[in-house]
Amino acid sequence: MFDALVQFVREQYRTLEFIPLHAPVFQGHESGYVQETISSTFVSSVGPFVDRFERDTAAYTGAVRAVATVNGTAALHAALLLAGTERGDLVITQALTFVATCNAIAYCGAEPVFVDVDRYTLGLSPVALQAWLESNARLDDDGTCRDKSSDRRIAACVPMHTFGHPVDLDGLLAVCGRWNLPMVEDAAESLGSLYRGKHTGVFGLLGTLSFNGNKIITTGGGGMILANEELGIRAKHLTTTAKRPHPFEYVHDELGFNYRLPNLNAALGCAQLEQLELFIASKRELATRYADHFADSDFEFFREPEHCRSNYWLNAVICPDRTQRDGLLNASNQAGVMTRPIWQLMCDLPIYAHCRHDGLAQSRWLSERIVNLPSSVLPEHLS
Ligand SMILES: *Cc1c(COP(=O)(O)O)cnc(C)c1O
Repeated sequence: MFDALVQFVREQYRTLEFIPLHAPVFQGHESGYVQETISSTFVSSVGPFVDRFERDTAAYTGAVRAVATVNGTAALHAALLLAGTERGDLVITQALTFVATCNAIAYCGAEPVFVDVDRYTLGLSPVALQAWLESNARLDDDGTCRDKSSDRRIAACVPMHTFGHPVDLDGLLAVCGRWNLPMVEDAAESLGSLYRGKHTGVFGLLGTLSFNGNKIITTGGGGMILANEELGIRAKHLTTTAKRPHPFEYVHDELGFNYRLPNLNAALGCAQLEQLELFIASKRELATRYADHFADSDFEFFREPEHCRSNYWLNAVICPDRTQRDGLLNASNQAGVMTRPIWQLMCDLPIYAHCRHDGLAQSRWLSERIVNLPSSVLPEHLS
């Protein structure tokens, strides 16, 4: 079984060398654009590529405004502040996520509450969310959502589109609407993923992207805030040291952050964005082949949810049990084919062990079984 998988992956990548989980591809205008920033000396926080990367990302995602940041965690931190998160608040999210989601909440002085995920999306479950809120929350006369036991405000809800697969956005928006909770989408993994034809990250009040080296496109390090007109303007201000526009004076009218993306990185981003649809087509083709490979086995290759186009950023297989999962991880990694288990649940990390949760039955079941498989663009799609 595992030998067959190793052989299958090697056939796809046509190599006997080490096969990583996800390798970036630079085959377009990357060198040219980066060289332009050097020639022009505009490598740092201002420059034409930053504006262009923001415009191009807004156009691609359909967001009214896109604001580039130094990484995805910074984008999420700023987005949560813009959504009104304050010290002492609670913020509902998944335990099945990368640690950055929770860290951004903690940077606001708020605390995550972990609600279970759905088996068919791997993301926050609207049913679990509604159930947790019904037992634990109340709405004040002014519409503020509060935790009944501690009286703490519940400031926001942060679903994450796991491995690029969209969460049940209609379901979550309905529950969030009922409880007056602004939704901030952690779309770090889902650039190019569509829910009912619309890009993930533009359904919530705000959404955030990441362009880290392992994501579907990369700027080295980078992120983006997706927002409406008003919050987009606020996002730009907050992430650029809150400096008021002035020809020469330094006037900063609130506590801002230096979360700007350098022009050097934005240049790389502009070139990568031009390649994105090609990358997605290749990864979707690979996903189909994995699905065929695992058909008729007790390993379930994870397919995109209904009404969605997933970018299949990281392919994932659900193993029948933990023993089989460990068998797959050991056999493939020893054979030079990189595979990885999904993250530990956030509530199992010491820093978030005190946080409240709803039992997380589905999250725990999945966390013991999911393995990510090599997901780089296929060699036949490289030019
Ligand atoms: C990558 C990622 C982020 C942001 O990461 P950065 O490395 O800061 O760009 C946030 N959330 C999730 C779920 C991610 O996968």
